Amino acid sequence: EENRRESLMIVSAFAAKFFHESLLDTDEGQSIGLSYFKERGFTTETIKKFELGYSPDQWEAFSSKALKEGYLEEFLTDSGLSVKRENGSLYDRYRGRVMFPIHSFTGRVIAFGGRTLKSDKNVPKYVNSPESEIYHKSNVLYGLYFAKKAIRDEDNCYLVEGYADVISVHQAGIENVVASSGTSLTVEQIRLIGRLTKNVTILYDGDAAGIKAALRGLDLILEEGLNVKVVLFPDGHDPDSYVRLVGTAGFKKHIDDHKKDFILFKTDLLLKEAGNDPIKKSEVIRDIVESIAKIPDSIKASVFIKECSNLLQIDERALLSELNKMRQAKA
Ligand code: ATP
Ligand code: MN
Ligand code: MN
Ligand code: MN
Repeated sequence: EENRRESLMIVSAFAAKFFHESLLDTDEGQSIGLSYFKERGFTTETIKKFELGYSPDQWEAFSSKALKEGYLEEFLTDSGLSVKRENGSLYDRYRGRVMFPIHSFTGRVIAFGGRTLKSDKNVPKYVNSPESEIYHKSNVLYGLYFAKKAIRDEDNCYLVEGYADVISVHQAGIENVVASSGTSLTVEQIRLIGRLTKNVTILYDGDAAGIKAALRGLDLILEEGLNVKVVLFPDGHDPDSYVRLVGTAGFKKHIDDHKKDFILFKTDLLLKEAGNDPIKKSEVIRDIVESIAKIPDSIKASVFIKECSNLLQIDERALLSELNKMRQAKA
């Protein structure tokens, strides 16, 4: 109920402040957390804007402080900030990690992502808050609170994969950027964007996983009637590493030079995979027409049919009749 939600947000705000002060005002936070963020190129202004933090590398630093200040155990555990031991005592979920608070659309802290500073493969790189009454991860886009004005003004939303991507790109002056944070894109997330703009540009990591993810979520975006463009980065780069490498102007130029409409991006990619195999090629054609069939605007759909007929070297009428068959099957 509403009181419980409010309590969870209050304890989350307290935690964000605790982690932020640990980062800026303690020796451990400065020497480990702050120096890490500085090495990644984050400025003090950025660290303050995004309320970045550090969780002390101890079992109970946060939980015992919170209990001492009167926060109830119930809200500490339900928010996922503390975990209950068998003997009933609490320990901290986040220890020795740099902390990324996740804000709601209205700017309240509702969850956290904590990044390890170890390169040990057995330690998960990110630990995130569990689902709670205030945090449904499928309804949240990281950075949206900081991006919403720019998304409206630019009439475009950049979608990236990770926290650091949002922060670096934002710091570079490109503020219309949000992240799906590792999960594949959901209809709820697309609708959040759709209220601000109908144009989405996907900037996923230039690795195989990123490209696969770009293809997966995107039919959903088409169904919601948004225009989708895709930009790939050189292998091994993500938007964070790339914007730091080439700077704001270079980053924008890369986007301008490489942005491709999603359908054409998908067609190109699948065609390359299919090579000269006619069976595979016919599967590609069906797959592409299936994507086009998801576009609600039929004029837009017919423009794509035309372009794809060139790319696929297939008669436009054959594609159109396939499209109509699929539309009838759906209706
Ligand atoms: P960094 O630049 O700090 O290494 P990244 O954002 O580039 O991080 P990726 O490996 O590209 O990290 O993953 C993209 C996003 O997926 C992360 O920002 C995070 O939200 C999520 N993620 C990655 N690894 C995990 C994990 N082990 N558990 C939960 N979420 C994860
Ligand atoms: Mn990746
Ligand atoms: Mn990265
Ligand atoms: Mn990445």
